[in-house]
Amino acid sequence: HPALLWFRDDLRLSDNPALRAALDHGPLICLYILDTATQRRELGGAARWWLSRSLQALSQAIAAKGGELLILRGDPAELLPDIVERTGSSYVAWNRRYDGAAIALDRALKAKLTETGVEVESFNANLLNEPWQVKTKADGPFKVFTPYWRAVREGGEPSAPLPAPARLSKATLPAALRKQALTIADLALQPTAPDWASGLRDAWMPGEDGAQDRLGTFLDEGIAGYREGRDRPDKLSTSRLSPHLRFGEISPRQIWHATRGALETGETPGSAADIEKFFSEIGWREFSYHLLFHNPDLASVNYDRRFDAMAWATDEAGLKAWRKGLTGYPIVDAGLRELWQTGWMHNRVRMITASFLIKHLLTDWRAGETWFWDTLVDADPANNPASWQWVAGSGADAAPYFRIFNPVTQGEKFDPKGDYVRRFVPELAKLGDRFIHRPWDAPASELKQAGIVLGQNYPKPVVALDFGRRRALDAFAALRSE
Ligand code: FAD
Repeated sequence: HPALLWFRDDLRLSDNPALRAALDHGPLICLYILDTATQRRELGGAARWWLSRSLQALSQAIAAKGGELLILRGDPAELLPDIVERTGSSYVAWNRRYDGAAIALDRALKAKLTETGVEVESFNANLLNEPWQVKTKADGPFKVFTPYWRAVREGGEPSAPLPAPARLSKATLPAALRKQALTIADLALQPTAPDWASGLRDAWMPGEDGAQDRLGTFLDEGIAGYREGRDRPDKLSTSRLSPHLRFGEISPRQIWHATRGALETGETPGSAADIEKFFSEIGWREFSYHLLFHNPDLASVNYDRRFDAMAWATDEAGLKAWRKGLTGYPIVDAGLRELWQTGWMHNRVRMITASFLIKHLLTDWRAGETWFWDTLVDADPANNPASWQWVAGSGADAAPYFRIFNPVTQGEKFDPKGDYVRRFVPELAKLGDRFIHRPWDAPASELKQAGIVLGQNYPKPVVALDFGRRRALDAFAALRSE
């Protein structure tokens, strides 16, 4: 009897425990289903582009080892039992997912298949710890990161990752099923007209090899000084592994052990402090999954329900300017344009742009979360809502409401020469360092020399900083006193 491996958010061959287990249970059927059922949040445009490329890489890697990736589209709740029956599979394996709809689907499928005598096993491939394993002394979920991470670290080092199998077996598929199989192109995941993905193609190499390359480059160079450098959007100072992690092209266990190994053998310029900081960022991802597991509505419901009473402004024009990177605040605009062009944004700038939308434009964090979901290649069911709620102040362990980022001082501190702004906001490229983060303060002669006419080829600020700040403080304070 064949063994069926159902790929989901684990598009890799190495350190893939479900794959390892399935290989021991008979000739292999590798399956991917593009889920078009409505239970789960539909992937955004940038994530669909990534998925398409990642499936391409996976399918080639499987074929190179003698296997085959079967691709279908539809409702997994119906398709999977159907495939199991038609192929006579007696064993099904998958790696776990953690959003509420996926958990419900997987649970129902496991029950249904088990009832028909099929053995079903699920595994942890994408987290250092299962979200339910890490508990407070009172046996509950953590609400604060520091004690959460301390508890994880006290548990010791993660287990060693599994190597990729040398060869894959291939089960013979019934002819009717072979006919039903789709190509990746059939899934129509790539944009056609307009083709907005050229910036994404230039920036990324989706797939397991791309993920390993990225990690290697980061350990060879980028990690030196990460502890402070990670806040600098003008430098290549972070790993950019987030979309690879999102699609499970690399596991946190692999990242952990490769990094630890490079430190021990002296093969990386990163210091022990840099590496501990890097691990703790991986820890924030784990913490987000911990929050999502215990709060399945994280993307739609305020974690702190007091925020349900928040008097958000409805500023459609402001939201539109924000999405397009036309707010008149250079660091905010640079971030949103980086996002649009490359599908990614530096973490510091994610915080600045999110704070600007929520605080200065007093816009509900869910509007920003939705935009990021559609445009990020790393759009993540846990990290995205957890981070947005964190900035809003409605989240777990969130920033206090009176901490409102000033986009000018943030820009001057973290992009001191304005290199980042000039890269993504070409209209301002000729403006000198002094006024690059506040062009409205520049003398008329300097603007003229730089070819800038505010309100014409670069916007005037959509909102005055002191007005926005005061309005936000009042709105948030009203909430706190309720
Ligand atoms: P590195 O600094 O190299 O960190 C390594 C890995 O650790 C990352 O790949 C990521 O998986 C994890 N990580 C790093 N910082 C964080 C963090 N603050 N929170 C959680 N995990 C982190 N991250 C996503 O993966 N998907 C999202 O949809 C997402 N949305 C965000 C929205 C907002 C408003 C904010 C403020 C942050 C968001 N983040 C999100 C977190 C963070 O910005 C990105 O993970 C990070 O910028 C990815 O770049 P990197 O891989 O170079 O990070």
